[in-house]
Amino acid sequence: MATTTAQTFKNFIGGEWVDAVSGETFESTSPATGETIGVFPRSGAEDVDRAVDVAKAAFADWRLVPAPKRGEILFALARLLEQEKPALTELMTHEMGKVKAEAGGDVQEAIDITYYMAGEGRRLFGHTTPSELRDKWNMSVRQPIGVVGAITPWNFPVAIPSWKLIPALVCGNTVVLKPATDTPALAERFVELLAEAGIPSGVVNIVHGGGGTVGERLVRHPDVRVITLTGSRETGVEVLKAAADTLTHVHLELGGKNAIIVLDDADLELAVDGILWSAFGTSGQRCTAASRVIVQKGAYAELQSRLVARVEKLRLGPGWEDDTDIGPVINRTALEKIHSYTEIGKDEGAKLLTGGEVAGDGELGKGFFYRPTVFADVDPQMRIAQEEIFGPTTALIPVGDLDEAIRVSNGIKYGLSSSIFTRDVNAAFRAMRDLEAGITYVNAGTIGAEVHLPFGGTKDTGNGHREAGQAALDVFTEWKSIYVDYSGRLQRAQIDTEEHPAP
Ligand code: NAD
Repeated sequence: MATTTAQTFKNFIGGEWVDAVSGETFESTSPATGETIGVFPRSGAEDVDRAVDVAKAAFADWRLVPAPKRGEILFALARLLEQEKPALTELMTHEMGKVKAEAGGDVQEAIDITYYMAGEGRRLFGHTTPSELRDKWNMSVRQPIGVVGAITPWNFPVAIPSWKLIPALVCGNTVVLKPATDTPALAERFVELLAEAGIPSGVVNIVHGGGGTVGERLVRHPDVRVITLTGSRETGVEVLKAAADTLTHVHLELGGKNAIIVLDDADLELAVDGILWSAFGTSGQRCTAASRVIVQKGAYAELQSRLVARVEKLRLGPGWEDDTDIGPVINRTALEKIHSYTEIGKDEGAKLLTGGEVAGDGELGKGFFYRPTVFADVDPQMRIAQEEIFGPTTALIPVGDLDEAIRVSNGIKYGLSSSIFTRDVNAAFRAMRDLEAGITYVNAGTIGAEVHLPFGGTKDTGNGHREAGQAALDVFTEWKSIYVDYSGRLQRAQIDTEEHPAP
């Protein structure tokens, strides 16, 4: 598609579709073919400032809209997302590159979180609790915080914006969204649907542009009270530092280096299914991707041969074709980074079993395709076993027993997802207790989160918060404790204590 025919998109600020003040633009292109998806405003600080101003003004009323009414708008959004699922899925295969089933899953995750959080409009439970004094009423309630700045990556272009915006909105906050520059059309479509569902002007705004300009201004803006970021560890550290001067709340969901453990007694065919899905789904570009497979020595040889046979059957192609197993990676920088890790793995002495090269033959040459790659005999300290590659590369690490497997699984800086394949219930429970990760799967791969459970990681994967489930409400609300004294006299807590009668 020629650039001149590409659709032009705008920022959404205060209920209006507007260009960047500078008039500058950038293009979103398909990683599968290079076709132009659209032209977007390359915004700057002045665009962010306008969006934050209107979001701040809109907060004054939105926080007072009864939460069940806010929920009703979100229920309407969920229904619109259901109607639009086929179109969003198709767009995602083009703009982000996911294969159809996974693109549909991304949209479904947004539908699920929207229904779940819309229902929160009739809950948002606080606590009532006894008082230590007579004739006194105690309770705690959740209160919205203000303007939320949401900064999102490209790998879940509809799901991740929804994980941030929907809980923020049901709690009564207003939002400025800065999506990734690789997937702006999908984020824009999501915001259009919010507007169509009836979200009032100024409550949701989108400002397109780069992390160093739009993102950084959002983080440093004194009227932004919460920053919720999903991205790399490096970006997380920068954002945390930039938010320090204004003491802005920061919620970080960062990288992973997730491992599947396969014990000798595992169902090996099931384990191979789990590894294929977790290592190569979304071309390995999931924060929960299994980039390490820790295998007990008795199963090691058999697992290797079964895995390689299955990997070599995977078909690369554009996500929109029905028989594609693996789509492209997001851009040239990613392709080059992934290949550089193949070179690093070889230099470190790991054994390349399959893959390890750019797939540039025929039509694939128009996009960014990388052959699914498996290394064997990987030492846990090698860089390919320590650093996030974010591509279709996995490392097989042999171990002697469960203790060693858990030590190796934990021996990284990240702590997002983990998994164990075993038929031994004692081993499974020890893994559930001892794996240092926010998520553990038993007899399933490292991916497959459901929206009503907390999602996030320990150690360098984040800063202690969680997305989704009830835990997300803690990011987007602050607790207020309320004491009502109806005794008609001044009662002093901790001082006016009652004498207890002797037993
Ligand atoms: P990234 O960190 O490069 O970018 C994420 C977002 O931050 C983008 O919108 C980017 O423009 C913005 N940004 C970059 N620098 C910024 C700055 N200085 N200030 C403010 N904003 C800035 O990440 P990516 O390449 O888009 O996504 C891949 C990363 O995201 C991987 O590390 C992956 O593990 C992680 N991820 C984590 C989760 C999770 O839930 N833990 C989920 C998906 C992806």
